[in-house]
Amino acid sequence: MSQSPAFATALSRGLRGRCPHCGDGRMFQTYLKVNPTCPACGVDLARYPADDGPAYFTMLIVGHMVIVPLLFIPWVWQGPPAVVIPVALVFLTAVTLSFLPWVKGAFIGHMAYLRATADRTPGHTADEA
Ligand SMILES: [Zn+2]
Repeated sequence: MSQSPAFATALSRGLRGRCPHCGDGRMFQTYLKVNPTCPACGVDLARYPADDGPAYFTMLIVGHMVIVPLLFIPWVWQGPPAVVIPVALVFLTAVTLSFLPWVKGAFIGHMAYLRATADRTPGHTADEA
């Protein structure tokens, strides 16, 4: 097992979508699909099961840093709901989907720092998923 990276290093590498261990290999194969192994250093990235954590933190961040300030814009309250609601939903969807890869990368980087890995021993239910 490779050594755990420092907290800030793992977090910043994850935010950039890079392997938390080497910082060179890409963490994601596609939009949110994590590479099973780092293409640069070969570390097993699949052992960090992020599950619903990134979605939870993305909603937390968007809810507090985007939705709350949005409520201070008078147009949100005074504009016609038939316009405000679709515009707000499209905007919030775009912001949420753009934050998600960064948050997932940072989450996996934090898991690498904590060495929070899935139990991959034979017979464990995580291997069957
Ligand atoms: Zn790597």
